[in-house]
Amino acid sequence: MKAERDLTRIRLVAVTKQVPAAMVCAAVDCGLREFGESRVQVAEQKIPVIRAGTVGADLIWHLIGPLQKNKSKKAVGLFDLIHSVDSVGLASAINGHASNIGKVQRVLLEVKLSGEESKHGLDGDSVIGFLEAVQGFKNLEVEGLMTVPPFSEDPQETRPYFKKLREIRDMARASGFRLRELSMGMSHDFEVAIEEGATIVRVGTALFGERKKEAA
Ligand SMILES: *Cc1c(COP(=O)(O)O)cnc(C)c1O
Repeated sequence: MKAERDLTRIRLVAVTKQVPAAMVCAAVDCGLREFGESRVQVAEQKIPVIRAGTVGADLIWHLIGPLQKNKSKKAVGLFDLIHSVDSVGLASAINGHASNIGKVQRVLLEVKLSGEESKHGLDGDSVIGFLEAVQGFKNLEVEGLMTVPPFSEDPQETRPYFKKLREIRDMARASGFRLRELSMGMSHDFEVAIEEGATIVRVGTALFGERKKEAA
């Protein structure tokens, strides 16, 4: 089954963790504009180098890895869209830092759909409560939901997680929340994610090749 989707509604985020700045600049030359990094400290070093190497290109930076409150000030300074908000406390910290610099920070709520201990994200059941709690935050715009499902070689096994995230998004919409984005799908399963409604796919390996195993 191939999805009948308007492709202009699907954004490709090129995940550049462990990719050298020079190669990211080459990707900009090839026409890519949206990039994802998973660590604030790394992005802090790399983004200025890439900006300097791609003057005139309007780049959009996504934070896709977990964010701790003590890094949230830097994250607000660096990123256009933070995918990994998973608590009201973190949302509140981001809102405060964004307010200080006169920015409305766009974020996604990360949802955890499996029981895996290692995974970040809020339970599906807590999504509406979270949205209600942050509704009054003037410098925070929750644009949608993000998930990282358990890894499976077979993307069909991941499909139920993508479907579930879409259902949660639709339920939140039915409750009056304006959530547009579904950030889901990586190199090996983005096609299935698109069939299930992804609006943002995060692709690293398929664009830049295999990463070293140890680091994130
Ligand atoms: C690394 C990473 C990706 C990209 O993974 P690939 O398999 O290389 O496409 C996407 N999302 C998150 C959250 C990641 O950490």
